[in-house]
Amino acid sequence: MIRVNENYGKLQASYLFSTIASKVSAFIEANPDKDIIKLGIGDVTKPLPAACIAALHAATDEMANESAFRGYGPEQGYDFLREIIAVNDYQSKGANVAANEVFVSDGAKCDVANIQELFATDVKVAVPDPVYPVYVDTNVMAGRTDIFTNDRYQGLTYLECREDNEYVPELPKEPVDLIYLCFPNNPTGATATKEQLREWVDYAKATKSVILFDAAYEAFIRDESLPRSIYEIEGARDVAIEFRSFSKTAGFTGTRCAFTVVPEECMGYAASGEAVPLHAMWNRRHTTKFNGVSYPIQKAAEAVYSDAGKMQVKELTDYYLKNAALIREKIGELGYHLTGGENSPYIWIKTGGDSWEFFDKLLNEAAVVTTPGSGFGKCGEGYIRISAFNDYDKVVEAIERIKGVLQ
Ligand code: PLP
Repeated sequence: MIRVNENYGKLQASYLFSTIASKVSAFIEANPDKDIIKLGIGDVTKPLPAACIAALHAATDEMANESAFRGYGPEQGYDFLREIIAVNDYQSKGANVAANEVFVSDGAKCDVANIQELFATDVKVAVPDPVYPVYVDTNVMAGRTDIFTNDRYQGLTYLECREDNEYVPELPKEPVDLIYLCFPNNPTGATATKEQLREWVDYAKATKSVILFDAAYEAFIRDESLPRSIYEIEGARDVAIEFRSFSKTAGFTGTRCAFTVVPEECMGYAASGEAVPLHAMWNRRHTTKFNGVSYPIQKAAEAVYSDAGKMQVKELTDYYLKNAALIREKIGELGYHLTGGENSPYIWIKTGGDSWEFFDKLLNEAAVVTTPGSGFGKCGEGYIRISAFNDYDKVVEAIERIKGVLQ
């Protein structure tokens, strides 16, 4: 008899985006003449930068040419991309990362989901609340939690992100081994200062734990005093793994390219206490289970770092940040407490009361789709997330409608 992994039975049905989709469908059916504006899901709306498209076309032509054709590439990514990432994203900004520590992949989602395989089943995991759900669900699947009761998985440590800590969690009171952090944050849009990250790095060093630092929204940081990488913090190479993505940076959500940095000094430990390099383990996992991102897509990602590409990516992220600033300003004027939207494409709005009720009000009375905060965790109740990923004109229109409903 083939037995199943019963941990899957502990997973909560992912009601969030499916419930939003069914509510939106019902609204459209009842109001076929209303023009819905979607500021819910975090997907980009603008096309790929011209420099990336040109590189993608040229690389595709190479694949049609017998002398230039390429088959399987290196699983970790082509050197041309690993090197340009290490130099541009890290070395030129004073962070010490070498090309061989960069692992190119088809998404930060897969990487943050898969990385937990490197760690023992009985490690204690800490996740922010509210949270990008992938961190939680992949640990549930792996058997690191007990059942879900009282809105939480038993056995997980929740790092609460609240108004009174400005959505940057305090160090845990109980010992933990594996810590997920995400800045700029999805869903709150909050950012962490160097001092705040330093506390986490010092904690991880003192407790021999590991930080999984998700920097998928790094390209939206404009405040020069904010860290873009955890490796700007002294000692982080010993205890932190960083995830980045071209998805939101350069509009690659449908094209798929990302990378993970695992420094050579970063260690896990065997039961005997012997230090085990996570770089070698991730290299082994990646080369065993992954066969590389396609050559044309890696060439398109390389073009992000050309002079034209850098300019175009800045324009793209500026465009969404302009939307975010408008949302932040206009909703703020209505008297709501909010965070994010300054160095992030998300605005986290304290609505008080029930998140779904507020969502319903904006959908039914303004025909604007947002995301109820409770879908991201217990601490998200009483909040909604508004995403800045849409056309500016639509954002202007959405704000007018929201003001009409809430004023
Ligand atoms: N990490 C965070 C925090 C995200 O919000 C997302 C996507 O929304 C991802 C990772 C996934 O990125 P990718 O498109 O590279 O899989």
